[in-house]
Amino acid sequence: MGKNSTQEICLKGIGVSPGIAVCRAQLISTQTGRPTTRSISEDEVPTEIARFEDALIATHDQIKHIQKQVSEVLGDEHASIFDAHILVVDDRTFIEDVIRSLRRDMLNVEPVLLNVANRYAEMLAKVEDSYLAERAADIRDVTKRILANLEGESLDQIANISEPCIVVSHDLSPSDTATIDKDMVRAFVTDLGSSTSHTSIMAKALQVPAVVGLHNVTAVVSSGNTVLIDGARGLVFVSPSESRLEEYRQRAVEQEQILHELDALRDKPPETRDGYLVPITANIELLAELDAVGARGAKGIGLFRTEFLFLGRPTLPSEDEQAESYIQAAKSQYPAPVVIRTLDIGADKLPESIETPDELNPFLGDRAIRLCLSRPELFKDQLRAILRASIHENVRMMYPMISCLQELIDANRLLEECKDELDKQGIPFNRDLEVGTMIEVPSAALIADLMAPYVKFFSLGTNDLIQYTMAVDRGNENVAHLYKPTHMAIVRLIDHVVKVSHKHGLWTCVCGQMAASPVLVPLLIGLGVDELSVSPSQAPVIKDVIRKLHYSAAADLAQRALSCGSADDVEHLCHELISRIAPEVLEISS
Ligand code: PEP
Ligand code: MG
Repeated sequence: MGKNSTQEICLKGIGVSPGIAVCRAQLISTQTGRPTTRSISEDEVPTEIARFEDALIATHDQIKHIQKQVSEVLGDEHASIFDAHILVVDDRTFIEDVIRSLRRDMLNVEPVLLNVANRYAEMLAKVEDSYLAERAADIRDVTKRILANLEGESLDQIANISEPCIVVSHDLSPSDTATIDKDMVRAFVTDLGSSTSHTSIMAKALQVPAVVGLHNVTAVVSSGNTVLIDGARGLVFVSPSESRLEEYRQRAVEQEQILHELDALRDKPPETRDGYLVPITANIELLAELDAVGARGAKGIGLFRTEFLFLGRPTLPSEDEQAESYIQAAKSQYPAPVVIRTLDIGADKLPESIETPDELNPFLGDRAIRLCLSRPELFKDQLRAILRASIHENVRMMYPMISCLQELIDANRLLEECKDELDKQGIPFNRDLEVGTMIEVPSAALIADLMAPYVKFFSLGTNDLIQYTMAVDRGNENVAHLYKPTHMAIVRLIDHVVKVSHKHGLWTCVCGQMAASPVLVPLLIGLGVDELSVSPSQAPVIKDVIRKLHYSAAADLAQRALSCGSADDVEHLCHELISRIAPEVLEISS
């Protein structure tokens, strides 16, 4: 069944953010891959040059427009970065070089432009002058925009959506998702992606229903088709029938009713029936989520993904600006704890303001703590900002992606340097700021005992822990069936880390998506996890599960899980328990 059919088509993907939405589809192209290369004849040369010049004019106008918008919202200082972009697009030497190369190679303009631009950018990046090195980034940005104009695409499509719709796209980056206007984008569906990709995490944070990993939704749906999304079940109905729409009207009412009942739990403690308390804290990406934390019944923040302060903007946030953001978070939750995670950039989270190398395996490359340790100036700005916020004593801090003890020692050393610097400047901070580490690489889990003396707590990042333990890309829908939180290796690693932490008098939180899965929460509690950090929207469901659980049943489940032989056996046990104690949560969780 192809595009434009009026018969209902049902697609099954991975439901990553629950909720029901019905709206017209809007196809968005965000692909910026290598352009296709095609030989051209002598006759086509003038046409190619004209296409290039049109694209340059369009690019110039777009940059001017963005510059004006930025200047209105953020002031001239931020807008001036675009002056450098205008210089690139107006640079006659560069333009003539592209035209000369086009005549020489007799190829369409796209690959020629990309080659010339890469050559310029590489030349500038090599120069030992930070101003010129930054111009390399400008050339790359502008080239991306010229290419998009040549190919008739818009890079700003998502931000410019002005009518309610369901976004249909091959893929979305976390920064695309961060710019979504919730009043306009009712839901989104993508060909690529998986449940723990950062784009999915953003969808949940924004409470926008989303289904990803659909493989071919962009081939099946046309802009304007009516689409129905069931985010909990991972279903997408294209041109839904009248009876389907009626079925979902009913479901939406039922879901509303369940959510309404869960709202009543907001001020109740997250305590099992037999009186065992499991604090629920929140994962946040944006300051805009702060109000939702308490409103949804979580207390404090277990994971502040600070890299999102760096995404979707052309310049780095200054130390002052960062300190203000961290103070705002700390004040909003006081006295409940706020765990600020230091920058976890690289791989899929790439700020425009930080030049990162092209790598063959970016998820195993120069990212997170590795990137921070190799750029101490960038890292120390953040550490000083966190220290300044720590005058609010509920602030804690943790490092992402630690894979060996030395990284932890080096990071702590830079933290001490920052303390000395603040002392010299007479700036106050909390000398006893509690520092923890994420455990999201198997090597870190296995040396938890060696790291324990250097930290006050562990936070299990199960999203990455599963990806790295099982060698399964967490964002790749083709291997999503292998991504199993109940794999015995994961159950054993969690058990190990919790036991080590308790032996050393530390506490362990889980802040990966496992903590937000109602089916898996009893297992985590039974394994002895001390705290669960989840997106605010998931807090009511998780509290409901905790309040319907007996700690003894969770402990029994964990013991049985530890002696299981397969992921499916563990999953079966978990399902069996949740269907018995809280079947309604399965209706509203993805
Ligand atoms: C994790 O890996 O589980 C985690 C919480 O970190 P992130 O999802 O930001 O990589
Ligand atoms: Mg992680």
